[in-house]
Order: sequence, then structure tokens, then C-alpha cells
Amino acid sequence: IPPSPGSSDVAQDKLLGSLLAAGFDEESCRSRYQLASLYRRRTSPYKPSPNLIEGLRRYEALHERCGPYTGAYNMSLLRLKPAGGGRPIRSAMCKYLVWTPENGLGNRMVSLASAFLYALLAERVLLIDSSKDLGGLFCEPFPRSTWLLPREFPLKVSATFNQKHPQSYGNLLRTAGVAAALPPLLGTLPPSFVYAHLSHDYDSNDKRFFCGPDQHLLEKIPWMVLRSDQYFTPALFLVPAFRGRLGRMFPEKEAVFHHLGRYLFHPTNAVWGLITDYYEAHLARGSEMLGIQIRLHFRKEPALELVVRQILNCTWTHKLLPEVLGRRRRPLAAAATVNGSSGPSPSKAVLLTSLHAGFLERLEGVYGREQAAGVSFHQPSQEGRQRTGKEEHDAKALAEMYLLSTAEELVTSAWSTFGYVAQGLGGISPWILRGPVHTRVPEPACVRGASMEPCFHYPPNYDCATGDYMDTRKMLAPFTSKCGDRKGGLKLV
Ligand code: GDP
Repeated sequence: IPPSPGSSDVAQDKLLGSLLAAGFDEESCRSRYQLASLYRRRTSPYKPSPNLIEGLRRYEALHERCGPYTGAYNMSLLRLKPAGGGRPIRSAMCKYLVWTPENGLGNRMVSLASAFLYALLAERVLLIDSSKDLGGLFCEPFPRSTWLLPREFPLKVSATFNQKHPQSYGNLLRTAGVAAALPPLLGTLPPSFVYAHLSHDYDSNDKRFFCGPDQHLLEKIPWMVLRSDQYFTPALFLVPAFRGRLGRMFPEKEAVFHHLGRYLFHPTNAVWGLITDYYEAHLARGSEMLGIQIRLHFRKEPALELVVRQILNCTWTHKLLPEVLGRRRRPLAAAATVNGSSGPSPSKAVLLTSLHAGFLERLEGVYGREQAAGVSFHQPSQEGRQRTGKEEHDAKALAEMYLLSTAEELVTSAWSTFGYVAQGLGGISPWILRGPVHTRVPEPACVRGASMEPCFHYPPNYDCATGDYMDTRKMLAPFTSKCGDRKGGLKLV
């Protein structure tokens, strides 16, 4: 989508208010500078703070100095060799965070954004496991360097790192005993690498990652491998050393992922082509756009009819779609007055995303194919089942998350990180379809999300001082809330 030339607003907005660094080659990654024009329906009211902008530029300088193939990187690699582990760490040395993915693309994106924020705060260079297809989906986010972990990296990252790994931080503590572990580990030579297990199944020892003294220890270890499928960003606010800086970088807590996502995730030209072609062909003409994301998390599927009724109940109750009357399917809204003047309702393009085929047909059936109500439905793909790791499949998923994010309003499915990414990129607090739906439509059918932030499904709920249970939401009051779609989850607001 070409930005209109000569407009200073567009020129200014191209960098999303200085969120993005200047100086990239525009042709090699068109999405980076065309993002603003994709969001032309609704420009973001959230501006990155000067502290965030400064933090990002500093991080970029660190990444350039220490990234793969630099002298500093090669020096640091020596510490991973059997003979190199005992080398003393010098303060000027670079430190690294190797992120490794788990679960579907939405999970990967919310976890990767959290890992990046941690890397920025802990002054580590973020590298991503390049054995997966992420390199084909996303452009390089940092200027003059790469975030792809070189293939000749000595540790086999994907295969071997899980909770049982002997170098996992939780295991190091478990073996030595939590109380006993910290002072001796600090006193002797720290290990040259550590594995941080922050996935949904992490235990109390793993959760000490979010404790102040433990971060103090971890900062001495040059290499860290991290695996997570969670949006663990809110828990970074628990670390005393990070909290003040986070507060200054994100005065609007509900926009953390909004900024991080727009900074990090630039679709490659191939994926950007899918997005912009589809947008122009199907969505651009509608005077309004609604996104509906349908995700069924259970193998035993509810009747499609039931989900369609839930969608209609939600969208009609909240006036996201015009109600249609019984069998003749005459649109109520077509005869209604708009802003006091009578006339046809504006045309509404509805983007429907789902792995499954049946919803589109049923919704079109309700409104009539001839779109008498001024409502048209569009579903870009019907993949049938999840095939994470297959580049073509993931490209469609990424394209649809982006397309959803361009809507004015969103209806999303409970518990879905796919929906979280769309709402966060778009800056939209969605209507969340409550789930699961087994035998009847929940009442109410949907609830409004407390913010556009992703939900952290498994907050640590851990008291660093006593090792007992403590409600993380209470510790992070007043800028957290219940998620509305996940019992026990929390989100920034
Ligand atoms: P979550 O499981 O809902 O939290 O979302 P994830 O993105 O982590 O995993 C679901 C995966 O299933 C996606 O990444 C896609 O691979 C696939 N998928 C689910 N829903 C859709 C959809 O509406 N469109 C497409 N193209 N893929 C989907």
C-alpha cells in the first residue's frame, strides 16, 4: 500500500512516532514503513514514550556491537566450549538471550515480545532459534545485524532444552536447595550458561527467575537459553531492578505489547504481499470493518450452529452487526436512522478467521449472499488444522493476525494468543467470546476485554521472600486486572 507522497504526517508516522529506527532498506522489508498506511482506518492514539525510544536505540547499538559474527560474539562463544567455561567474565563482555519457541505462532509472538523486553532490561542480546520458520516470516528487526542464531551455535537449542535440563535455573536451585544455592553460586565462578524455563508448566524453582536476588545472580551468567509459550511481560514488573525503568518506558501499561509488537514483528515481503493484496481486494472498500476470530480449543467440537448463535448474540447485543429479521432476513439496520438522518447503513466488511470452513457459510446464510444488510463476510483461509512450523501455513496465520488488527472492532475467542496478537497490534480491546461452548450459548455471549494487552495465562503467584503462594495480580495492583477469558490469568491495564 503506497503511502501518499509528500504528506508530512505520513512521513512522521512511517516510523510510528520514532518507535522504528530509520535507515533500513525499505525495499527489503516493505512492511516496516508501510505499516502506518495499513492502519489508515484508525491511527493509534498510543505514542511511544521518550524512554522507550531511547531504550530501543540503546538496545539496537548493543545488538550491533555484540550480534552474531562480531568479534565480541566469537569471544563469548569461547565460554561455551569445554575449556572456556572457567574464563572470568569481564564487565565489557556481551551477554546473550537465546529464545526458543513453543506452541503456535500466537504463543510464539507473545513470548518472543516478552523475551525481547527482558533482553532489553537485562542488557542481553536477543537471538532466536533459526531452526524454525520465523526467519521466513519476519524481517530482521535490528539494524545492521541479525537476530537469527547462527546454525553453528554449539548448543543444540531446540531438541534438548526442557524443564528437566540439568542447567535449568530451577534445577540448579533444586539440586542445591533454594536457600543454600544463592550465596555459593554467587561466590564461586558462575556457570557459563543457564536455561530459563518459563513455559506454562514452570514450577516454584523456575519461577524464582522473577525474584530480585535471583536476577542479580542471573546477570552474571553470559549465556541464557529461554523457552516460553507465555506472555510473561507482566511478571517482569515484579523484579525490583526492572520496575522503575518499565514504568518510565511504558507510562500506558495497556500498550506494552502494542508498542513491542509493532516494533518487532515486521512481516517479510512475501507475507506482506498476502496481507496487502487481501486487504485491498476484500476489506478496503467497506466503510467499516469488523474482525471475528473463531478458535475452537477442544478436540470435541461444539455444534457450529451454537457458535454462530453465540457470535450473533454478541455482535447484535453490542451493535457490532445489524440485526436481521427471521426468515426473510431483512436487515433491521437498513431502515434505521444513522445520526438522526434516514438512509442505508454503512457497508461493513467482516473479516472472519478460523481454521474451519462452516462458519462463513452459516453467517452468509443469515445475512443473505447478496449482502442486503450492507454486510459482507470474508475468510482468507480455511486450513482445517494447525500446522505450526510449515512456513506457508504460518504465513497465512500471520497475515490473518495482521488483517484482523486493521479492524475497528474485534470479536475474539477466549484463551487465544492468536487473537491477542491481533488485538495488541491493532490497539483494540476486543469483545471476547466466552468459552468453551458445549451445549448452550453462554450468557452473556461475550465480554469486553479490560485492555488490548495479551493475557498472561500462568502468572507465577509466588512469594520470593517465603516461597509460598502469593497472588501476582495483587502484587502488581493497580495496573493489572483479570483477563475475562482465563481464570487465574492476568493482564496489564
Ligand atoms: P492459540 O492456540 O489460539 O493460542 O494460538 P496460536 O497461534 O498459538 O496457535 C494456533 C495456530 O493454529 C495458529 O498459529 C495457526 O497455525 C492455526 N490457526 C488457528 N486459528 C487460525 C485461523 O483463524 N487462521 C489461520 N490461518 N490459522 C489458524
